[in-house]
Amino acid sequence: MYSLAFSILFVSILILTLVVRFWLASRQIRHVLAHRAAVPAEFAEKIPLAAHQKAADYTVAKTKFGLLTLLVNSGVLIGFTLLGGLQWLAGHLQALTGTGMWSQIALIVAFAVISGLIDLPFDYYRQFVLEQRFGFNTMRRGLFFADMLKGALLGAAIGLPLLWVVLSLMAKSGDLWWLYAWFVWSGFQLLMMVLYPTVIAPLFNKFVPLADESLKSRIEGLMQRVGFASKGLFVMDGSKRSAHGNAYFSGFGANKRIVFFDTLLSRLAPQEIEAVLAHELGHFKLKHIVKRIAMMFLISLGFLALLGYLKTQPWFYAGLGVNPVALTLSGQGQGTDALALLLFMLVLPVFTFLLGPLSSLSSRKHEFEADAFAATHTQADDLVSALVKMYEDNASTLTPDPLHSAFYDSHPPASVRIRHLKGAAA
Ligand SMILES: [Zn+2]
Repeated sequence: MYSLAFSILFVSILILTLVVRFWLASRQIRHVLAHRAAVPAEFAEKIPLAAHQKAADYTVAKTKFGLLTLLVNSGVLIGFTLLGGLQWLAGHLQALTGTGMWSQIALIVAFAVISGLIDLPFDYYRQFVLEQRFGFNTMRRGLFFADMLKGALLGAAIGLPLLWVVLSLMAKSGDLWWLYAWFVWSGFQLLMMVLYPTVIAPLFNKFVPLADESLKSRIEGLMQRVGFASKGLFVMDGSKRSAHGNAYFSGFGANKRIVFFDTLLSRLAPQEIEAVLAHELGHFKLKHIVKRIAMMFLISLGFLALLGYLKTQPWFYAGLGVNPVALTLSGQGQGTDALALLLFMLVLPVFTFLLGPLSSLSSRKHEFEADAFAATHTQADDLVSALVKMYEDNASTLTPDPLHSAFYDSHPPASVRIRHLKGAAA
């Protein structure tokens, strides 16, 4: 009875999210096309019409492609759950491997391989058709497949031991397993923050210390002014995959580093680079990064506690197309732990989708604060001209649908952001 109610709830929310996402996408497409004919007045002197139209076409193409992948992914989700895909997979694997730890791990690996194979043609199309058409792809096919292989090996090397620990806790540490799993997960996240910039990212890209001496002394001056110590400034060879440019901040403690894509560096003037960097430092100085990490820990604690409860509820499995009794001799034993994890990971995004705007809202608030920080410590006009170049180079639309933007965007629309910066300058 509960399981039927849960199935109905799941399907209703899935349909609701699909309707909302199609509605937002159609608004976005209509809005962008309606403003395609002319560059918005405030950008008219800086951005050529051809670039504006390219951004419109790129946005529309990406949005349409997003809808296609959304439909396919929703079909796959239903296939794995209500249509019995996971049940079938788990049953066959257990016939081969029993119900112990190895069968649990085999189930999750099999799931990861199948979803990876389903995603592959879409990833390929995105890179070699969509990005290619707009001149952003700089990647050779060999690199694409090498990246994929490296990613899979790395995922196995890091993911399998972690999975083993979590499944062991689920099986053997009693009712509070989720709390112990949370400690493990949080420790793992912190470890990744150290390992990502120093060990993992260098497997995919080259990072060289910024060489330009005059730029370096300009940047060191800025870091001194705002009181920021860092292991360094690095330039990343982003151009080997894509023409999109970016700058980011990674690591923490003594491992902090600032990374500029070579594609960005080659386009911006020194004072613009300084302004972009000031924005990134703003995120650090205003404790956005610490707040974000704390929030992430808190949310994962909540979700793990929820999983701790759901794992013991028969309706959770049955409502999602899995019959645990048929799969395990010992009832709620280890036989269903991997299933509980997979089901939870599969359906969680459906149930949390409508909360997305909250996270976008908090992220945009941080962007305004970091912009204001940059405007205090460098010239607001330099950040404005850097942003205009970045929008043009990335073919980001200057005229997003306001509602679409409010729902999804981690950064405020260009015009709003620039208006705030101009206000700060004046
Ligand atoms: Zn930012």
